Amino acid sequence: MEIIDLRSDTVTQPTQEMRDAMANARVGDDVYGEDPTVNRLEAEAAEMFGMEAGLFVTSGTQGNLIALLTHASRGSEVIVGDKSHIVLYEQAGMSALGGIMPHPLPVQDNGTLLLDDIENAIREDDAHFPRTTLVTIENTQGTVGAVPLSPEYTQQVSDLAHRHNLKLHIDGARIFNAATAYNVSPAEIIAGADSMTFCLSKGLGAPVGSILVGNKEFIHEAHRTRKVLGGGMRQAGVLAAAGLIGLHKMSQRLHEDHANAAHLAESLRDVPGVRVVSQHTSFVFFWLEETAKLNPTEFASAMQEHNILLSPYPGYERKFRMVLHYWITRERVDEVVRAMQMVLG
Ligand SMILES: *Cc1c(COP(=O)(O)O)cnc(C)c1O
Repeated sequence: MEIIDLRSDTVTQPTQEMRDAMANARVGDDVYGEDPTVNRLEAEAAEMFGMEAGLFVTSGTQGNLIALLTHASRGSEVIVGDKSHIVLYEQAGMSALGGIMPHPLPVQDNGTLLLDDIENAIREDDAHFPRTTLVTIENTQGTVGAVPLSPEYTQQVSDLAHRHNLKLHIDGARIFNAATAYNVSPAEIIAGADSMTFCLSKGLGAPVGSILVGNKEFIHEAHRTRKVLGGGMRQAGVLAAAGLIGLHKMSQRLHEDHANAAHLAESLRDVPGVRVVSQHTSFVFFWLEETAKLNPTEFASAMQEHNILLSPYPGYERKFRMVLHYWITRERVDEVVRAMQMVLG
């Protein structure tokens, strides 16, 4: 029996079409700018997002770090959500490697930073203060439930940032899920941003890689920053070939994951001891109540006996996250619900 892995969309494996494309990819030395498949991926991603240029990077973390180091000088300050991936899960890379100070603001339950909070956090020109250089937002906002941020909100943050001569970077690891949720184009969902990173290796199913997009001058500098971080790759076209399928094809089917997530959340209402906390895009969060028949550890191992993998959300004992992706079809969702009913009923 196949394993149903609900822990994350990072567990997705390349499709057969991706494996074939990888085997047949035309490649060259990308450090010389000569890999045709990487060049194509970068150009097509940039075009799709209405940006001038793109850069293939090893991971979302590297893409964010490159963006931060490129936009913000040493001793400057970056406005960022306190529950953002950049603050929580990237080892304070901006401080460690860039001498940049994060200025964290509370992430609201709807995934936004309040515009007033941003405005108040922007420093005046005063010799006592660091200089604010950049605002970052995360779309979808993962830790509060993969909530998609609207194009209107993004435009407001952009207007505010630009009024103060600041740049706006979007951590768009799951930006296609946000565009799908609002039913707008990739370019519309990030309109107003100066740069954005997204992951090819999550819901888009590619094995490795993220893309950073921005204007030509920014990407020229970002290319230098990627090199100093050891991110210059050679025949990376074998990876970019899978990325192209993620970008063009897998990005078009995310509505299926969202529908499956909604169906799963709805079906969980009938499972004793389970309370759904939220469902946005491809994420479902639920609490395993104190009254449930099993404790969280027993529950996870009982599910594993049904070949279903899920684990408590880091930092919470009773909160679980389930992430839908192309591998988890409607039939498999129903299998998961039946197993949970059996285990907890
Ligand atoms: C996954 C993710 C990243 C990047 O993660 P990598 O594992 O380095 O690719 C960045 N931001 C968010 C919100 C993410 O979910």
